[in-house]
Amino acid sequence: MTQDKILELLKQYKVSPEAPDLVSSGRLSEIIVNDGTITFSITIPAKQAAAYEELCKLLEEKIEALEGVEKAMIVLTAEREPSQSQGEAARNAAPQAQRARQTPPKSQGPAKIEISGVRNIIAVSSAKGGVGKSTTAVNLALALQANGQRVGILDADIYGPSIPRLLNINEQPTVVPNTRIMNPIEAYGLVAMSIGLLVEQDTPMVWRGPIAVSALTQMIRDVAWATKGELDTLVVDMPPGTGDIQLTMAQQVPLSGSVIVSTPQDLALIDARKGIEMFRKVNIPILGIVENMSYFSCPTCGTRHDIFGHGGARETARKINVPFLGEIPLHMDIRERSDLGQPIVISDPESDHAMIYRNIAEGMVKQMAGAMKPAPKIMFEE
Ligand code: ADP
Repeated sequence: MTQDKILELLKQYKVSPEAPDLVSSGRLSEIIVNDGTITFSITIPAKQAAAYEELCKLLEEKIEALEGVEKAMIVLTAEREPSQSQGEAARNAAPQAQRARQTPPKSQGPAKIEISGVRNIIAVSSAKGGVGKSTTAVNLALALQANGQRVGILDADIYGPSIPRLLNINEQPTVVPNTRIMNPIEAYGLVAMSIGLLVEQDTPMVWRGPIAVSALTQMIRDVAWATKGELDTLVVDMPPGTGDIQLTMAQQVPLSGSVIVSTPQDLALIDARKGIEMFRKVNIPILGIVENMSYFSCPTCGTRHDIFGHGGARETARKINVPFLGEIPLHMDIRERSDLGQPIVISDPESDHAMIYRNIAEGMVKQMAGAMKPAPKIMFEE
């Protein structure tokens, strides 16, 4: 299968009779042909998302019908309007999801997808971006592994997939012959898959709610997670926020529990409550809150400085009756090693920081065992 063959096919399609064909429209990204997997994106005006979505489905079918193709994945992207936040942009482009918001979700929700070879799935989420959710997710996955588990990690952060960078992954996933199933990439003993491996990096993305959910659930379901044996835990680095995409994911993926990452600032804590409320709505056990960048740990003298105030997350956790899993300091080593693609738990396993992550991982496992019992009712104390 070659790019030219795909282009030849795409030349025959346009989004509307008056539009230019897809190839001359200048909207196509580079077409990535990797064994039997074809991936590319189409940049679209957000307002035309519905028409493109339909075309997209048809094209995936047509491409998958070509000889030598196992799987086609087309991602719709749109320039984000500078004045809009990611959440707003996604909402504006997702009228269907907006309608869904008006009807409060039922606790049962849609049927959960089935995932074989994975014992427990844990979502790591945060109510907003930039709190260190991905860094925490990666280090916790490695910490679970260091504590003796077989672990996978799925990067579902469609707004900023960072697992390939954090785990220094440069290869693209291959497909299991004659199937639609992708092989995960192995990194530091983990099996990993990222939305960032399937689309071009640094593409500004605005995902319509339903498309995002279907791409994400497909990524969880169509990956050979148990390629090296059954996984004890699959850690899912969730997209930040508490919107419809996250809610639907929480409804459709059989999550065993969720971990909420928050920074000490008050605002983040109010946001963290939203995250807790969301998982509670769909009856997913909350394993606990992790306070990231909790205090500043001086790289030269090792002294602890509580520059953000201290104890906020622990106090909030107590008030809302959610376990507090631990505090991770703001430290250069954590950031630098992340930037190098060598997470601290694996690159400096004897360090205090690695021990902090391992203790938190242990706490998660204990909470999971406890979560098998009926959960206490969570009360919000204002
Ligand atoms: P998110 O996934 O919430 O957007 P990231 O994990 O990408 O956040 O982290 C944002 C930035 O903060 C990154 O540069 C990361 O290296 C840094 N960072 C995260 N946690 C820590 C920490 N505990 N100490 C120092 N830097 C951190």
